[in-house]
Amino acid sequence: MNRMLEVRDVSFSYGPIQALKQVAFHVDKGEIVAMLGANGAGKTTLLKNISGLLKPSSGIIQFNGEDITPLEAEKIVQKKLIQVPEHRQVFSTMTVLDNLYLGAYHHYKSTGKKEIEEEVEKVFSLFPILKERKDQLGGTLSGGQQQMLAIARSIMAKPDLLLLDEPSLGLAPLIVKEVLQYVRNMRDEFGVTVLLIEQNVNASLKIADRGYVMAHGSIIKEGTSESLLNDTEVREAFLGHTLN
Ligand code: ATP
Repeated sequence: MNRMLEVRDVSFSYGPIQALKQVAFHVDKGEIVAMLGANGAGKTTLLKNISGLLKPSSGIIQFNGEDITPLEAEKIVQKKLIQVPEHRQVFSTMTVLDNLYLGAYHHYKSTGKKEIEEEVEKVFSLFPILKERKDQLGGTLSGGQQQMLAIARSIMAKPDLLLLDEPSLGLAPLIVKEVLQYVRNMRDEFGVTVLLIEQNVNASLKIADRGYVMAHGSIIKEGTSESLLNDTEVREAFLGHTLN
């Protein structure tokens, strides 16, 4: 077993609102783990605590055996723990290619141009549509293509662990499937470990190895993707999101 992320009893409050209540879970190297939950369950807050944008009021977060709880977000990124933001933020007035180069920003000096160009080619082989559109402005891509670009840009940062915040948000069901399949391919081909935050239970459990379910700031269930997909309570809790 190779534990990559270990979250121990993390709590967090926005003033009087307690958004996380002693959340504990882990992600092992090479896994895709889905963190499921309805609106307001605390999923985004949890990701922000892991990536250092918010600091837990109590609890510990370990990454590759190191306590990263006190570290600034910038330092955590340098450790190759990378978050793809919600709402697929791409740089809309820059080309697809420049968006990708920007993803390599943190290791541009140490890596060198040639290696980064090779990395871009690898990313293009995973997302052929981005190669076709490499000179198009980010803001003129379709929603699904922008999501792919946001993910592709994160790969350029050479993540060990990628935190994906609701990549299916606002996408049509067929596109959701496609984007999530890319996440799976990315794990398989680039060896990236993934923590996937999702409301879309069916689509995300189809590509994940394991999952956890959050409600009201706590983890209420965990299991293999198969066991969660067959869990009637989970299905009932997410009825509106199981039809895709
Ligand atoms: P969604 O799927 O809708 O994005 P979520 O599971 O990611 O939901 P969070 O965004 O983490 O949920 O929100 C958890 C709780 O914290 C909610 O009750 C929300 O209203 C509250 N919350 C989130 N951000 C803030 C904030 N900046 N100030 C106050 N309360 C907040």
